[in-house]
Amino acid sequence: MDITAQPGRDEMKANYTEQALAEGGHYFIWLNFKFEDDFEGMNKLNRIGARITKYSERPNLKFKYFIIDTKYKNAFAMPGGYVYVTNSLMSRVNDDQLAAILAHEIAHITHKHGLKKFEEFQKQAWLKSLLGQKIFFYSTDLRKEMDYELQSDITGARYLKRAGYDPAIALSALNLLKDIDEENRRELERDMELEPERRKLIKKLIENHPPIDERIQKVSGQLDTINREEKVLFDEKDFVF
Ligand SMILES: [Zn+2]
Repeated sequence: MDITAQPGRDEMKANYTEQALAEGGHYFIWLNFKFEDDFEGMNKLNRIGARITKYSERPNLKFKYFIIDTKYKNAFAMPGGYVYVTNSLMSRVNDDQLAAILAHEIAHITHKHGLKKFEEFQKQAWLKSLLGQKIFFYSTDLRKEMDYELQSDITGARYLKRAGYDPAIALSALNLLKDIDEENRRELERDMELEPERRKLIKKLIENHPPIDERIQKVSGQLDTINREEKVLFDEKDFVF
């Protein structure tokens, strides 16, 4: 498994395609969810996100962070640098767990998982309307792809080490994910008045498929290697504005 996210041959084309996908997907999310104007929260996302992306393989990509206002807890990424975290997840995690979650989502973007997924579907040639919805669905469907999840877990842990965090905080975030899954499920069961279409959307927002225990085991197995092979690149001087 490639745990680095090196640029490909068609990097320029990939960047343009990703931007177009991101705009379509972001528009769909903007139509269907409410963003929260939480200055402090946005500040935190931008600060932690910048620290992680700076030492990733795509330091020049403009990453954008959004807080979605919903009682359901989750985070996801879309191609081209768009990262979404729900406000209920924000208030459930500590800063380290948030860093680990962001590192994982950022790794989906540096590996271009969303773009790859989209290109697979494009081959099936049913790219018609509702483009934004499809991009959103592909982005959340990434959680069903064990390979992509593991790749992002491990690349994310590498980023944490480079950014001066203890990569083991990835395990704390994964453990939390197990509790959150259960909380989301119960919340959705209680949500009786949700319309069917909306229910479908919320299900997409919260579903987590790959067994988290297996992910915890795989990440634990990589921690020694990551600690040995990755250097701390974080330098406070890089972040003086
Ligand atoms: Zn993921």
